[in-house]
Amino acid sequence: MIVLSEESQRTSGKDAQNMNITAGKAVAESVRTTLGPKGMDKMLVDSGGSVVVTNDGVTILKEMDIDHPAANMIVEVSETQEDEVGDGTTSAVVVAGELLDQAEELLDQDIHATTLAQGYRQAAEKAKEILEEDAIEVTEDDRETLVEIAQTAMTGKGAENSKDLLADLVVDAVLAVKDEDGIDTENVSVEKVVGSSIDQSELVEGVIVDKERVDENMPYAVEDANVALFDGAIEVKETEIDAEVNVTDPDQLQQFLDQEEEQLREMVDHLVDIGADVVFVGDGIDDMAQHYLAQEGILAVRRAKSDDLKRLARATGGRVVSNLEDIESDDLGFAGSVAQKDVGGDERIFVEDVEEAKSVTLILRGGTEHVVDEIERAIDDSLGVVRTTLLDGQVLPGGGAPEAELALQLRDFADSVGGREQLAVEAFADALEVIPRTLAENAGLDPIDSLVDLRSRHDGGEFGAGLDAYTGDVIDMEAEGVVEPLRVKTQAIESATEAAVMILRIDDVIAAGDLKGGGSDDDGDEPAGGPGGAGGMGGMGGMGGMGGAM
Ligand code: ADP
Ligand code: MG
Repeated sequence: MIVLSEESQRTSGKDAQNMNITAGKAVAESVRTTLGPKGMDKMLVDSGGSVVVTNDGVTILKEMDIDHPAANMIVEVSETQEDEVGDGTTSAVVVAGELLDQAEELLDQDIHATTLAQGYRQAAEKAKEILEEDAIEVTEDDRETLVEIAQTAMTGKGAENSKDLLADLVVDAVLAVKDEDGIDTENVSVEKVVGSSIDQSELVEGVIVDKERVDENMPYAVEDANVALFDGAIEVKETEIDAEVNVTDPDQLQQFLDQEEEQLREMVDHLVDIGADVVFVGDGIDDMAQHYLAQEGILAVRRAKSDDLKRLARATGGRVVSNLEDIESDDLGFAGSVAQKDVGGDERIFVEDVEEAKSVTLILRGGTEHVVDEIERAIDDSLGVVRTTLLDGQVLPGGGAPEAELALQLRDFADSVGGREQLAVEAFADALEVIPRTLAENAGLDPIDSLVDLRSRHDGGEFGAGLDAYTGDVIDMEAEGVVEPLRVKTQAIESATEAAVMILRIDDVIAAGDLKGGGSDDDGDEPAGGPGGAGGMGGMGGMGGMGGAM
């Protein structure tokens, strides 16, 4: 009996498992070469021809336009990682891929997927315990460690050359936006400026609004400014209904215009009365009103974005009001300086010297657009790890040290597990070593030598021993200042395990319609996948063969 429609496709049992594992592994393989300080970059060109050059795992995977369902589960691992901590996106995916690879071998030895899943889960649980136990405590006052955390996240990225300066800016930025409710890095806005060099990047403790003052007769700069934030228009209110005004003589017309002017005059007078020196207006400002404002020496900006108004409110301590008559002196914010300045050829309004800048702007400079874009991605990672560290207060040495330690301890733990799950726990331990192994490979070192070295040092009780990607030596990473938040590692292990387990437990893929690029795709118009493209990998489009092509 046939219950499925003719278009649907079904793959079951071993075939389904193999297909999904291959897809998942290919995703991991595609980002592997970017891992670590010596990782390479990728150039991604979309169908419209726009180009992204990046080293950032999650960015690569998002740009790759993957649509194989199992492959997407691995992509989600990097997205979760990005959302939760902002860094470690490549590592998480590489671990997930290796968990699948190890699982494949055990499946071939007829270990059941459920047993594997259980073993993996147990191992992940234990791994988190071990890491939490070994983590190093860090407080807000330990600026040196915070800077190191920020630097480690930038290593190997476009920002690396100026990481001393940039890490300082990142730490200042995160500390500035921290408040009772936590840390929202959305309050750190990044302004990218093409031209001049990264070293000229700076942190403005305040808000930069991408606008100019609305009238040339307004002051360029105002000191000790009371700032009004008005989310409306300084224009004559339109009559509700289309009223027809019959003008019979010139006096009447004049009267009508006078009345309009009077309205605008009143609006401006109100701002003057409450003591506003600067006004940010969400909507338009009538020409006549502009003229009055300029006469009063008020610096006005029109069509300010609502996000900017919110940021200004946070920074200046003012309130955004949507009815002009309702604005009172109490609603005004304060800034020591509001000034129009030139940034890389564009005029912007800088609102600075605020009491407590709960909202800051990082001005990133770089030689070309692609360069600044990639610096911004590194800065995003960096902001994420400093935030995470301040929230959790726990860090770990980097350079593959935690993974090497986990591999060692999990192998011991495996003995206590016994049964067939023991094999899964051991596989899990082996899988984690993919991180130091890949760091070594990408640095042009012999991965076997490096691993042997690492293992023996950890065996000797050196928890912080990791791989110095520059010299190839195994060194104490904590002493070297290569540190990462605990959560980067625990989150990566958790999401990688979950995704791998989910994929392993699937033994039937039923697709309504065409599972793109499936092995049995017979309409022939799909290009064949690359070397990695066997078994349903065509769904990854042209990138399917990426892993194999590297
Ligand atoms: P991810 O997207 O996973 O963060 P990265 O390319 O940023 O990928 O690489 C992160 C890895 O590089 C981590 O394992 C980290 O410990 C390691 N790493 C960072 N800096 C150094 C360094 N100076 N020496 C050795 N390893 C480092
Ligand atoms: Mg990183």
